[in-house]
Amino acid sequence: MTQLPVLNLASTATGTTSDGRRATMPPRHLADLDLAGRRAAVAELGEQAFRAGQVSAHYFGRLIRDPADMTDLPARSRESITEALLPTLLQPVREMATDDGATRKTLWRLHDGSLVESVLMGYPDRVTVCVSSQAGCGMACPFCATGQAGLTRNLSTAEIVDQVVWFAGMAARGVLPGSPDRLSRVVFMGMGEPLANYNRVIAAVRRLTDPAPEGLGLSQRHITVSTVGLVPAMRRLTQEGLSVTLALSLHAPDDDLRDTLVPVNQRWKVAEVLDAAWEYAARTGRRVSIEYAMIRDVNDHPWRADLLGRLLSGRLAHVNLIPLNPTPGSKWDASPKPVEREFVRRLRAAGVATTVRDTRGREIDGACGQLAASNGGKVGERETGLLARRANEETQ
Ligand code: SAH
Repeated sequence: MTQLPVLNLASTATGTTSDGRRATMPPRHLADLDLAGRRAAVAELGEQAFRAGQVSAHYFGRLIRDPADMTDLPARSRESITEALLPTLLQPVREMATDDGATRKTLWRLHDGSLVESVLMGYPDRVTVCVSSQAGCGMACPFCATGQAGLTRNLSTAEIVDQVVWFAGMAARGVLPGSPDRLSRVVFMGMGEPLANYNRVIAAVRRLTDPAPEGLGLSQRHITVSTVGLVPAMRRLTQEGLSVTLALSLHAPDDDLRDTLVPVNQRWKVAEVLDAAWEYAARTGRRVSIEYAMIRDVNDHPWRADLLGRLLSGRLAHVNLIPLNPTPGSKWDASPKPVEREFVRRLRAAGVATTVRDTRGREIDGACGQLAASNGGKVGERETGLLARRANEETQ
């Protein structure tokens, strides 16, 4: 039996960034606050409170952040208001595009040197962004690049929201050929465990879904929160009254294997995590997405497909199989296509809706987490704008 990794479940843990600095939370930003909080912050500057609504409308509504473009603000207070409410949170240090520009991935450096990444994906009918919720991750899943590096720190609400707003601005400027210019979906499938940064992630979901100027005005149904299965936090989410889609990273139907692939399973077992998922489905009426990375000779056996089918049959769920993206130095590989097809066939025979995630290219770092992890802080400003070919996309 392999040695089980030690879990770091403390969501407030702060570590050291990849360039050796102590990780610290960023300055306050308007996306950390609701409109009342923004009004109070503007009043503290000696400005009229309604200016908060104007700045918010620029940021969330017009997707602009340059004070020079905020011509409805008095010139003398533009700088002070934007300094107080719109500090720069994300510096792009590397950008990659693939699929003729329809998939774009950005590596960001945060104010303390932490690195995170996000991916923008354009489709004919929709535009999706995959965001990070933490710098690094404490969940230690051995097949995941982010899991190898450990947790640096939680992202602030605004650091999460700003990834989306930044890409919404790019989409609005028409950078995605053949896609709508309005960003419509957000998936929390980048770096980090969203439910280990619970309060900030929920606040980010509210900012993303509140109508402008309070927020970005996305539909809750178009937001997916993906978790390793932190059961108490899943129960809390069930009580939140949100109708976001819940994705559960199951990866194995049996505790013996899941204890090693998703170490948090040592604390909350398959039966318990699925119960929490069904409670969520029952409360929200939303189909839960069961994520399952197909790893050759590890979790792709026909009997595991049958067991998974029995666990999910008749439930409000669908399975999303993800061909494994091998991480650097990993002994694991994706399942061969015939094995994958047989897995799908058995799940469908059990009456379980199943799709295989479409991955775009496999020749360079692509899975969320791999870019930041493989760069280890050695990315320079000069690499900004670098084009490469590879990114993942979510299905549906
Ligand atoms: N912490 C959250 C979000 C992380 S990433 C979670 O675990 O759900 C989103 C999905 O990508 C998860 O299902 C995760 O297990 C999966 N994933 C991570 N590394 C992968 C890899 N190398 N290949 C395929 N899927 C991977």
